[in-house]
This record gives sequence, C-alpha cells and structure tokens, in this order.
Amino acid sequence: MTENEPGHGAARLARGWAAGTDEAPVEVGIGLLGLGNVGGAFAELVEDEAGAVAARTGLRPIVRLAGVRSAAKPRSAGVRALALTEDLSSVVRDERVDVVVELMGGAEPAGELILDALRLGKPVVTANKELIAARGIELSRAAENAGVDLLYEAAVGGGIPIIRPLKESLAGERVERLMGIVNGTTNFMLTRMSDDALTYAEALAGAQGSGLAEADPSADVDGHDAAAKIAILASIAFGGEVAAESVYREGISRLDPIDIAYARRLGFEVKLLAVAERVHGDDGGSVSIAVRVHPAMVPRSHPLAFVRGSFNAVFIEGGAVGELMLYGRGAGGRPTASAVLGDVIDAARDLRSGSCGVAGAASAVRVRPMDDLCSQYYLSMEVLDEPGVLAAVAEVFGNHSVSIRVMEQVGLADEARLVFLTHVAREADVRATMADLESLAVVKRMGGMLRVAGTADAGEEGAWR
Ligand code: NAP
Repeated sequence: MTENEPGHGAARLARGWAAGTDEAPVEVGIGLLGLGNVGGAFAELVEDEAGAVAARTGLRPIVRLAGVRSAAKPRSAGVRALALTEDLSSVVRDERVDVVVELMGGAEPAGELILDALRLGKPVVTANKELIAARGIELSRAAENAGVDLLYEAAVGGGIPIIRPLKESLAGERVERLMGIVNGTTNFMLTRMSDDALTYAEALAGAQGSGLAEADPSADVDGHDAAAKIAILASIAFGGEVAAESVYREGISRLDPIDIAYARRLGFEVKLLAVAERVHGDDGGSVSIAVRVHPAMVPRSHPLAFVRGSFNAVFIEGGAVGELMLYGRGAGGRPTASAVLGDVIDAARDLRSGSCGVAGAASAVRVRPMDDLCSQYYLSMEVLDEPGVLAAVAEVFGNHSVSIRVMEQVGLADEARLVFLTHVAREADVRATMADLESLAVVKRMGGMLRVAGTADAGEEGAWR
C-alpha cells in the first residue's frame, strides 16, 4: 500500500505504523465544508502542523477539497492553493476524503451533508453548536449506526477541551453542576462595563469595533449562543436530551453599569452564566435538571470571577472529583481549529481501529421551571426620600417570604436608591415581590435584578440548591 493510495476508510488507514520507524505516515484525506474564520484557520493549521502530527501519530492530515458558497471570493494566502468547489456534496462523496469536516454553520445544508457523509461511512467533525444543540442525539445515533464518529469538541468553548473530558474523563462522575462563561463577546463587554463603567451600548460598540461582535449581535447578547452550548453540555453531563429551547434565557442588554458597580461593592463580579445543575427534591429521591442562561453575581473569590475579556471557562462540580475548571480561548479561528484538528486525528484513529464513540442512552430529562429556582437575589430601586418608605418596601418583601440579608441606601437629591441582597428565596416569590414593589407609590423606578451564583462562597448556606 502506498502513501497516496486512493479509496477512503478503515482499510486504507489500517496499515500499522510505529513511531521512530522508517514507515511512511498514512495520509488522512479531509473534505472541508466551509472556509471562513474557522475553516480557513483549520486549513492553515493542517498545512503548518501536518508533519508534526504525522511524526507523533503516524497520521498525516491533508485537506483534499474545500466546499464554499463562492469559489470566486478572494481568499487569504494560506488557503489560496486549496482546491475549491461550490458543489458541497462532491466534497462528501470524493473518494479521497476519509473524514468530513463541517465548518459552514447553520442548520441546512450542514445537517443533510453530515447525514450523507455518515451514510457513506465517513466520520464527521463539526463546530456547529446550533446544529448539535438541535439535532445532536439524532446525528450521534446516525453515526453510531454507521459505525463511525461524529465529534464536535469545537462546538462548545472553542479551543477549550470540554466535550471529551465530560464524555470520557468524567464518564464515571456524577456531575452535580456546570457553570460556564461560554460566550467571549458578552464576557468582553461585561469586563468593560465593570472596569470602565461603560454603558451596554458603549461596550457593544467597542466589541463590534474590535471584531468580537457581529453587526447583528443578538445571538451573543441575548444569550442564544450560550443557551445552545449549555444545552449540549447538559445533554452530555446528565445523559439526556436537553433542547436549547427549554433553556431559560436572559441576555445582558438590560444591565445597568450602576448595578454592576453595586455588585462589585458587595464583593461580586457580574458574568453571563450558563448553568446546568441537578436539583434534588426534598423527598430525597426525585431529581430534576435546571438549565439556564442569565447574568449572575459571582463571588469575587470564585474562580469564574477571574475569567476576564473574551476568555471562556467551564466550572464543574462532581460528587467524587469535587470542583474543577477548564479555561481558555472560547472562540477565534486558530484556537477553534486546534480543537477541530484534535477531533480529526481522533476520528482517523477510530476509523483505523474500527471503533467509534457511542451515542449513549438518552433518557427523558425533566427541565425544572425557572419559577422554582432558589437563589440569593440582588434588587435595586429608586424611591422617594421620605419617612415610611423603608417600612413600606420591607413589608412587601415580608408578604412574599423573601428575607433581606443586606440593605444599602444611597441619597440622590430628593430621591434615594435602595439596594437589597436577599437570603435564599424562590424565583416566583422574588418576581411577585418585584411586581408589588413596582406598584408602590413611593417606588419611582425598579432597577436591576441579579441572581447570585456559587455555593458556600456566597456567604449563605447553599445559595444554589
Ligand atoms: P464563517 O466565517 O461565516 O464561514 C462560513 C464558511 O462556510 C464560508 O467559507 C462560507 O463560504 C461557507 N458557507 C456557509 N454557508 C454555505 C452554504 N450554504 N453553501 C456553501 N458554503 C457555505 O463562519 P465561522 O465563524 O468560520 O464559523 C463556522 C462554524 O464554526 C459555525 O458553526 C460556528 O458556530 C462555529 N464556531 C465558530 C467559532 C468562531 O470563533 N468563529 C468558534 C466556535 C465554533 P464563503 O467563504 O464562500 O462565503
């Protein structure tokens, strides 16, 4: 068998290879769908690293063909030599392609192309969080039926290894909670709003100016991107199918820098958190899953509080392993391409050995209603500065069994701002409190509401139950 023998699949890759011998590495033909930010960086990384990867693994990755929307579009010098086509299915069908890498994004035609590749017995690597969040279980089953891999390490956390550690290293672990900063754009904006007291609009303009936010930023700032990612992580961690639509979602566009400044004074950093956790019922037996994305106050001593700028991190709490955190570049062409290339090598190894990952048994997961969340809450409001106001406000809290842990009052001409941090309370009770406060004549304007993340660090007995 020669290095360039045509035909894809296990038979060609199965040739033995041992490091340090004269044996020539086996070429792994890649069919690339998409040559944008990540696809372009991936093609360049393959070009740069193929020799080193071959020396380590005996597998030399090579991009055979790349499918794009417009072959006439100008490309960077690093990818200009690649063979391009606008006929995407020809990439999947090409005999020289062993592994299909999907880096186009979107639901279709990516979904059908992936299914076609799997039906042909070709493993697929993708970074498409939207597609995996919507159809991950279905596509994984198709891969299992075909006996090949469907790998998507880059779909969550870009260059941070999180999918494989969750699936493999933590396969024996009972994951109790995952808390992630999984969107670099919003973390960059929140860092600026916190450090430089920028408004939301100023922080967004800064992110757009530095290429971190799209002209239409809603996928990031409204939490859709983070919701897709936490749905994927929750599905793996809890062995069920958690749909992105079942994730409670609140973005950052209504955040006021004043509330961020107060949170800081109280010892917290404000982060857009994606949370998935196991909630044990009071009966001791029942378990449900809570999955949500919203801005949260993270105690300054918590490792997630140190995740700044466009960096990402996922903090995991497990029954046996305790606490661990994976941190790094959650997006960007080169870091994401690194995760994709890792998957390609893994898929080629599995193809060679005739093994593949299994989709696993996906049980039905009951996602807990947001109203049942128990947390500490931060609330702020502007009130008239006159006698009796505090008593009226405190009575509303009392009516809904929401107990106040910290209260601060700041004078503002003939008005005052009241800031409260509650003890652990139920979301539904806090919302009812807010509605009643809003109707009080002495309350001029309700300010922000933020939930407090963390456990014992928040200073209370189990802030998240
Ligand atoms: P991008 O820059 O917009 O590139 C998309 C590529 O796919 C382009 O080459 C485009 O062709 C091609 N394409 C898109 N739709 C097509 C269609 N219908 N037919 C033919 N070609 C099509 O996107 P990206 O930022 O690289 O993202 C790619 C994927 O990686 C997405 O799933 C994204 O969620 C994921 N991801 C991205 C990052 C990141 O940092 N950017 C991080 C993690 C995951 P043309 O070049 O001809 O326009």
